[in-house]
Amino acid sequence: MHTAKGSALKQVHNFIAGDYVASDRTFKKYSPITGEHIADIHEADKAQVDAAVRAAQAALNGPWGQMSVQARVAILEKLVDGITRRFDAFLTAECEDTGKPYALARSLDIPRGAANFKVFADLVKDVPGEYFETATPDGRGAINYSVRAPVGVVGVICPWNLPLLLLTWKVGPALACGNTVVVKPSEVTPQTAALLGDVMNEAGVPPGVFNVIHGFGPGSAGEFLTTHPGVDAITFTGETKTGAAIMQAAAIGARPVSLEMGGKNAGLIFADCDFDAAVEGTLRSAFANSGQVCLGTERVYVERPIFDRFVAALKSAAEAMHIGAPQDEATQMGPLVSQEHHAKVLSYFKLARDEGATVVTGGGVPEMPTALKGGYWIQPTIWTGLPEDARVMKEEIFGPCCHIASFDTEEEAIALANDTHYGLSTAIWTRDLARAHRVARQVRVGIAWVNAWYLRDLRTPFGGAKQSGIGREGGVHSLEFYTELKNICIKL
Ligand code: NAD
Repeated sequence: MHTAKGSALKQVHNFIAGDYVASDRTFKKYSPITGEHIADIHEADKAQVDAAVRAAQAALNGPWGQMSVQARVAILEKLVDGITRRFDAFLTAECEDTGKPYALARSLDIPRGAANFKVFADLVKDVPGEYFETATPDGRGAINYSVRAPVGVVGVICPWNLPLLLLTWKVGPALACGNTVVVKPSEVTPQTAALLGDVMNEAGVPPGVFNVIHGFGPGSAGEFLTTHPGVDAITFTGETKTGAAIMQAAAIGARPVSLEMGGKNAGLIFADCDFDAAVEGTLRSAFANSGQVCLGTERVYVERPIFDRFVAALKSAAEAMHIGAPQDEATQMGPLVSQEHHAKVLSYFKLARDEGATVVTGGGVPEMPTALKGGYWIQPTIWTGLPEDARVMKEEIFGPCCHIASFDTEEEAIALANDTHYGLSTAIWTRDLARAHRVARQVRVGIAWVNAWYLRDLRTPFGGAKQSGIGREGGVHSLEFYTELKNICIKL
């Protein structure tokens, strides 16, 4: 299925209309852990993308479109079972593609991959509606009520940092609401999307409801999908500049978009915080998943009385992190995802020095055992001393790094947090809840955490302000994008 008979290398195929489909052209997948060529990915051409969209249209107009909510919910619950049964296969594929520690993927990525189907299966069982009785001039009256119809064929474009988690975050609600999907996973992390094909078939998802096409963005599967007139709506997670290109594609035919994009998030550490919790939370927010988390903290602001102590504590915690092979249960940080991303992050490490940063720790590539030397390893890195207008302070790096600066007043902390084009998240650390509320209200972000980081309840709205996103997904908010609200008016 994924490995062609007689082939030494793993072959990752497209999944179209319920079948795994090879392409004439393939591209290479390299291991982030060793740098070795580990798989060939079949790149969907224009005709294959068209076939996937047509299959999705046919399924929408066929059995899936006719199915009751109860029957759809039962299938979604089988998807949860299917992922859970194949837990180890998903875990191995995800860690092979990304290089992330097994311990992280075991506790976060794979369980969330399953939970994303469960939460939306539960949600659509009981969707609230509106009902109005309306007076009419003839005295007979009318009733108005709202129903939610699927939006249609949804194009789903995903990034590489949390591949299964972010893909199912979109496919879960899309299918729960009765849509069909054509998914393009990142070219860097295609494996878990491909594995989902078998899970869909086993659960009884009709052919064409879920399709996966592999490839790149411009001039490849991404562009073919987003410009295809048969796609009714596009949901995207990735970089802000890619989101802007996708908006342009969506403008053809005036199709709706949901965009979850980049961040340059601030952590605000007040002197009255629980110091150890703030250090631990900031450590995770800067270095978890090797800093490749959209919600991660790249700008840390600490109230002056505890600045020196905080920098020293974060430095020693970062230096104590175990960098190593994903399978090693002690590993806290794996490599970066690709050679290209490694080069990009290292270029920012150089830029930070050029812009005058003091390197508190890290700033380069760690010494690794011989077997791992070809991988894309990097040191957790902390800087101080950069001016607020430095590029390193403004641009999303998406690596295991943060800059720490001090502040004196609450107003100054809010102004510093807001001094960015992005607006995804912030983490506020203080014991003063009145202040926490004041600050959270004034920071222009989609998610403000108080004394926590990455604490998620999937029923809550998720998305970004400013250039971090358009729209909100999560809980009932996903219904806004994945359904078309229709009013039915019956004259009595
Ligand atoms: P990316 O924008 O480079 O790629 C994302 C996806 O878009 C890939 O599948 C890619 O092939 C595709 N793509 C690229 N150009 C395209 C085009 N012109 N048309 C159609 N598809 C195209 O992002 P990435 O490097 O994979 O992921 C990292 C970025 O994602 C970071 O900026 C991060 O902040 C962001 N992110 C945001 C969230 C969020 O929820 N806000 C979550 C995770 C990651």
